[in-house]
Amino acid sequence: MTAHSNLTATAKLGFGLMRLPLQGEAIDLAQLSRMADLFIQQGFSYFDTAYVYHGGKSETAFRQAVALRQPRAAFTIADKLPAWELKQPADVDRIFNEQLERCGVSYFDFYLLHSINAGHLKIYEAMDCFKWGQDMKAQGKIRYFGFSFHDNAALLDQILTKHPEVDFVQLQINYFDWDNPAIDSRGCYETARRHNKNIVIMEPVKGGVLAALPAPQQARLRAVQPQWSDAAWALRFAGGLDGVIAVLSGMSERAQMEDNLRTMLQLRPLTAAEATALEQVSLALRQTPTVGCTACRYCVDGCPEQIKIPDIIRVYNDFLVYGAQPQRQQAAYRRITATAAGPASACIQCGQCESVCPQHLPVIDLMAQAASVFEA
Ligand code: SF4
Ligand code: SF4
Repeated sequence: MTAHSNLTATAKLGFGLMRLPLQGEAIDLAQLSRMADLFIQQGFSYFDTAYVYHGGKSETAFRQAVALRQPRAAFTIADKLPAWELKQPADVDRIFNEQLERCGVSYFDFYLLHSINAGHLKIYEAMDCFKWGQDMKAQGKIRYFGFSFHDNAALLDQILTKHPEVDFVQLQINYFDWDNPAIDSRGCYETARRHNKNIVIMEPVKGGVLAALPAPQQARLRAVQPQWSDAAWALRFAGGLDGVIAVLSGMSERAQMEDNLRTMLQLRPLTAAEATALEQVSLALRQTPTVGCTACRYCVDGCPEQIKIPDIIRVYNDFLVYGAQPQRQQAAYRRITATAAGPASACIQCGQCESVCPQHLPVIDLMAQAASVFEA
């Protein structure tokens, strides 16, 4: 596959539809439509959704905000097949057809097997999904077939050796995880390039963590480039890598999108001084003991106690970084658990969350720790 014709060197930003603008608990469709319009007006085209985002409502929000309002040539849409919803081979076509319908399109530009790790790979292989992807391409229902990946470089190498037909891979890459052994961004990136694959980058800002740096790290970066936001640094790192066709950012506010558009329209490789500053910041961040939750929310729908796991982890991270700030942290914790959502102590240790967490987080232990801090 050569770089997609709609993806020019300056149009690498992808609109991730995982963390959409909200009004209360509902997706703010009017705001999403305005943001999608701006995105397209500025010359960008790549939208990324999945069957499970926003509890299944991301795809229909895309149809309403984009597919029904824009000519088909103005956008490319990526969607994903969830291994954890596949109980029998017939589920593959059933879910795929449902996705076409929900998105309001007759074909997907990019289609991915979602979140491959060793466990999910067994399911995709058992359902013959790699062969199925080629069949869908032959029928014109998929233009480019790939997968998103959450495991180590050795497994990625095995898959790409066995399936050279795959067009592209989607990898978690950001400057914090580049040399983080738990994610192995660098190893996976180098493996994909060795196999000559184009790359879509997810989590370039690590679920927002790299968009709101602690003050000392922020000051270190501002000393080099006073005008750049924290998020701009993270996007520049990801977007400057060779072979990257899209850098996904889950944008939930217009200001965030405007900042990202500015960054990606003026993309250029980092200078040596800028790269050194990022390495120093990454090292310093790694010494702060935070939990690497990217707020993807894959764990939330299946929790029998309806625990808002990523929201609780966010407050727990605040505690880890800033120490006990009872007023701020207790208020935030009360807001999270005020509705039907269970508190961290309601965890029954069923393990559902840990089985789907792409960051391999020990959620059960984390809920126990959060309960001991916020419910004591
Ligand atoms: S282990 Fe706890 S937090 Fe995780 S899904 Fe089960 S009840 Fe929810
Ligand atoms: S705990 Fe894991 S699955 Fe849940 S939101 Fe965080 S990163 Fe995603």
